[in-house]
Amino acid sequence: MTITIKTPEPRSEGARAFLARRQKQILIDGVWRDAGSGKRFETFDPASGRPLAELAEATASDVDEAVASARAALTSKEWKGMTPSARGKLLWKIAELIDAHVEELAELETLDQGKSFKTGRFGEIPASAEQFRYFAGFCTKILGTTIPTSIAYQPEGKQIFAYTTREPVGVVAAITPWNSPMLMAAMKLAPALAAGCTVVLKPAEETSLTAIRLVELMLEAGLPKGVVNLVTGFGEVVGAALTAHPDVDKVAFTGSTEVGKLIVSAAEGNLKKLTLELGGKSPAIVMPDADMALAIPGIARGIFSNSGQVCVAGSRVYAHRAVYDAVVEGLSKAATALTLGHGLDAGTDLGPLVNRKQADRVAGFIAEGRSEGAEITSGGNQTGEFGTFFEPTVVTSVRPDMRMMREEIFGPVVAVTPFDDPEEAIAYANDSPYGLAGSVWTQDLSSAHRLAARVKAGTIWINCHSYFSPELPKGGHKQSGWGYENGAPGLENYLETKTVCAVI
Ligand code: NAD
Repeated sequence: MTITIKTPEPRSEGARAFLARRQKQILIDGVWRDAGSGKRFETFDPASGRPLAELAEATASDVDEAVASARAALTSKEWKGMTPSARGKLLWKIAELIDAHVEELAELETLDQGKSFKTGRFGEIPASAEQFRYFAGFCTKILGTTIPTSIAYQPEGKQIFAYTTREPVGVVAAITPWNSPMLMAAMKLAPALAAGCTVVLKPAEETSLTAIRLVELMLEAGLPKGVVNLVTGFGEVVGAALTAHPDVDKVAFTGSTEVGKLIVSAAEGNLKKLTLELGGKSPAIVMPDADMALAIPGIARGIFSNSGQVCVAGSRVYAHRAVYDAVVEGLSKAATALTLGHGLDAGTDLGPLVNRKQADRVAGFIAEGRSEGAEITSGGNQTGEFGTFFEPTVVTSVRPDMRMMREEIFGPVVAVTPFDDPEEAIAYANDSPYGLAGSVWTQDLSSAHRLAARVKAGTIWINCHSYFSPELPKGGHKQSGWGYENGAPGLENYLETKTVCAVI
């Protein structure tokens, strides 16, 4: 099936007006301007190949200015002098503006990234607003403690009075990927600002539009100049300059494990603090007593939504032999029932992948798997006029050593493997360098929690997959990352502790 696609006109006036201003700029110290080099690059609708806008191509000298602006803002009267309550209100106001522009932001996300409109409109954009609401509440609750000490102090009669204070970690470089652009930016900006940090945001070069619009809305909400700076451009230039920059205190990164490792090396110079949210190869274990009416659609959503371009996508399914056939058949049916098309079309379930390169990569995994004996029970084809679509695909007859079972495909591809006893399922699930997430599907409460304890991953879902909320810490074990986003640990990443110890 070849899909021929035209880019529909966005319905919201906001998205039309934003796209009418074709040339986008970077933001430094509250001023929108071109990159120092004057260079630009285009961003495309991956469904139709139509160019959407021209982005400023920043370089290392723009990064220097952005970092200097963030450094100055850190101690400015407008930011450091803002009361915690006012900071909380500001974050809340940003959330309200996101909600007020939800249609526009969802349309821009669809056009730039490809995802279906409903994924943005009812999922990722409201969830971005919730990030700001959740962290708004923390602003007034960042507290130190007083600490009684045990070691006696001489001379006699003197005593120790000790306490801790919390301070913002400083200038944060927030570097985000292309799969859920706005939500990934919000997950870093909201806790960073709640903690009192300042930020240089570098969105993925493929999908920078909603980051630009979000920052416009943040300024409209009253964010003081320099507190958030935005530099668009390429990872190996802008990202690399930020991660090696001696005046950046922390990098908050979401992206591939490969780039995560480069960042670890780049950060060495000034031992920057790092949080790394990296790749995954998440397992879903289906026990013989699983409620199939819940499991099949849940697992299908867990792998196919956003065309599998989700870090926690359940790409490896281990089904007990008693239910294996039912799982393969159920997932295959669910895959064929999904409608591919332009994300802005109302009937579309799955849009294209983010670009041709990514779709080619997915096709490469399938071709290699086929040549090694994997069987495709549903989908398996790259399609669309620009080759950017990929059919939701179910694969069987896989072996644990196949590349498609070891590496992150980041496409709508799920491999199903049978198992006979739970120990075997746990061994399969843990046979991966990744440890981001996983799910277990069973109606037996004890077995559910026993399995949850044994699978080595940052999040385990029981009878669901890919449920997120800002209250729930999210991070990777093994090579899926360092540190956590969301929940109270998500704020900790942006704070330092200072111990003050006095003889009184
Ligand atoms: P990527 O690693 O290629 O790029 C991510 C960001 O890093 C982009 O902004 C890119 O420009 C920048 N970058 C590239 N090279 C760089 C360098 N040398 N130095 C500094 N920055 C650099 O990732 P991607 O392809 O955009 O996104 C997909 C990946 O993101 C997948 O592996 C996915 O699992 C991961 N991801 C993880 C999570 C999570 O929470 N763990 C969430 C979403 C996506």
